[in-house]
Amino acid sequence: MQLVCLDLEGVLVPEIWIEFSKRTGIPELSRTTRDEPDYDKLMKYRLDLLKKHKLGLPDIQKVISDMGPMAGARDFLDALRRDFQVIILSDTFYEFAMPLMAQLNMPVLFCHKLEADAAGFLVNYHLRMPNQKKESVQRFKELRFKVIAAGDSYNDTAMLAEAHAGILFHPPQNVIDEFPQFPVTMNYTELRREIDKAAARI
Ligand SMILES: [Mg+2]
Repeated sequence: MQLVCLDLEGVLVPEIWIEFSKRTGIPELSRTTRDEPDYDKLMKYRLDLLKKHKLGLPDIQKVISDMGPMAGARDFLDALRRDFQVIILSDTFYEFAMPLMAQLNMPVLFCHKLEADAAGFLVNYHLRMPNQKKESVQRFKELRFKVIAAGDSYNDTAMLAEAHAGILFHPPQNVIDEFPQFPVTMNYTELRREIDKAAARI
């Protein structure tokens, strides 16, 4: 049985923090691990900012819901799910992603969790485990699945390498240059073609 593992942000939906920062007009929220390599510091900074701007979970979810998935994402995913078992592996949080999952026909999603207080403000985050994407692929292989993985950036490359076949989707140039072993696709038609090619090979 073949399993397709897809990254979420940059593949099916926009980069959530960046898009959220634009839509709320809070530029500090577009800070990423490139600006602050300490992930824990970055997350605490983001959660503090949300609280400072009085944005509780329902407000945040409303903004995220309005973002919607990327154009064509739902049709691509619907068609893919007819031919493969598909699991989305993401470093986002359920509380953020669920409004978007609803617009993608509720595919399976493995990601992390946020904690809100009684007033609805986010107070903490809980990572499932370190290197969740790669670890998941490893476990699926132990369950005797053949795994095809696709993602767009650095945090996907360990998952792509662990899978039987790894595919880059719309990646930045530095990732293309650093990981020449993975085929590069720029749209859903190309991605589907590479998935089918990999499925025939593995
Ligand atoms: Mg991504």
